[in-house]
Amino acid sequence: MTHPVKGDDIFYIIFTSGTTGSPKGVQISHNNLLSFADWVTGPFFDLPKRPVTLAQPPFSFDLSVMDWVMTLLMGGTLKAVSKELSENFKALFELLPKLSLQVFVSTPSFADLCLVDPEFKADNFPELKRFLFCGEELTKKTYQKLQARFPEAKIFNTYGPTEATVAVTGVQITPAIEKEYSRLPIGRAKNDTKIFIVDENGDQVDKGKSGEIVISGPSVSKGYLNNPGKTKQAFFDDQIYKVYHTGDLGRFDDKGQLLYEGRKDFQIKLHGYRIELEEVNQGLNQSHYVKQAIAVPRYDADHKVTQLQAWVVAKENDFSKPIELTKAIKKELTEYMMPYMIPTRFIYKDKLPISLNGKVDIKAVIKEVNNV
Ligand code: AMP
Repeated sequence: MTHPVKGDDIFYIIFTSGTTGSPKGVQISHNNLLSFADWVTGPFFDLPKRPVTLAQPPFSFDLSVMDWVMTLLMGGTLKAVSKELSENFKALFELLPKLSLQVFVSTPSFADLCLVDPEFKADNFPELKRFLFCGEELTKKTYQKLQARFPEAKIFNTYGPTEATVAVTGVQITPAIEKEYSRLPIGRAKNDTKIFIVDENGDQVDKGKSGEIVISGPSVSKGYLNNPGKTKQAFFDDQIYKVYHTGDLGRFDDKGQLLYEGRKDFQIKLHGYRIELEEVNQGLNQSHYVKQAIAVPRYDADHKVTQLQAWVVAKENDFSKPIELTKAIKKELTEYMMPYMIPTRFIYKDKLPISLNGKVDIKAVIKEVNNV
C-alpha cells in the first residue's frame, strides 16, 4: 500500500441535511472509524465469526458503515440489496430468504417493511440470529413483532449521529427490558466514549434530569467540511477529544440507560432519512408557485414521523384544482431537492400562523397537524 489512510486523515465524508439549504459534509477520520470498528466487532454484539450480513442502507447513509466495516473486518460476506429491489416488495420478499443471512443491519423502518411479509420469520431464516438497529427510534411495536417472529435472535438498539461515526451507544433489547420501559432505551456508551446531558447553557444537569445529549470520544468528527461556522456551533474541544452537541434530547435513568426524548430543533427522521425542516422550507419557498410555505411532520403514537406535509400559501395561478398545483410544485421541486425530502401532502391556506417574532409559527402548525 503506497498511500494508507491513517491517524487523523479523512477516511470518508458523508453529507447530511443542513438548515440553510446546503448539506453539511461530516468528515470522518481513520481514528474516528477505528473507534467504531473496535466496538462493533467486539464482544458486545456477539457476532458470528464470519458474518453473512445484509447490506441494504445506501452508502450515503452512515448506517451502511455498520454493515460493511463489521463484515469486511471479520472476513464475512455482504449480501447487497439494491435500492430498486428494496422498493419492489415482491422481489425483495422472494430474495431475502435466499441470502442465508446471519446479521441484519437496518433502520427499524426497513424491518417494518420486511415484517409486512408473514414469511419473514425464523423458520425461513434459520441462521438469522442478530438484528442491529440504528438511525431512528426502535419502537416497542417493531421490537414485539420481530421478537415474536425471531424468538432466538438478539435484537440491539444502537444510537448515534453521523458526526460521532455511526453509533456510540447500544443495548440488547430483551423481553424484560421491553416490559420495563414505555419507550425503549438506547443503551450505554461504548467504553471509549463519554455522554453528558447538558442544559441550554451547556452546563451538566443533575443526575436523571433531561437535556441535550453531548458526546465526547475518539469517534467524534473534527467537524463539517469547509464549514467553520456550522462546525463552531456544534463541535467543541475537550482535553483530548472533540465534543459534539447532538441536538438530541435525553436523560439517564437510575440504571444508567440512556433514554431518547426527541429533538431540540426541527430535525426529523423520515423512513430513516435525516431531514432538517428548514432545508425543506428553503426548497418549498424557491418554487415559482409558492408565496410562503413550511414543511411539517405528522407523527404516530410511537413518535415516528409518518408523513411530511407542506403548508402552502400559493401565488395566484390558473390551475383549476389544487391537485394540479401540487403536481406542478412537486415537478419543480424534483429539479433541486432530494426525492425523500419532498412533502407528500400539500395543504393550501390563505395565510400561515405568525409567532410573536414575526416568523411563521412552525410549532403551532405542528400542534395542529398532530392534534396536540
Ligand atoms: P444520522 O446522522 O442520519 O445517523 O441521524 C442521527 C440522528 O438520528 C440522531 O441524532 C437521532 O436524532 C436519530 N437516531 C439515531 N439512532 C436513534 C435511535 N436508536 N433512537 C432514536 N433516535 C435515533
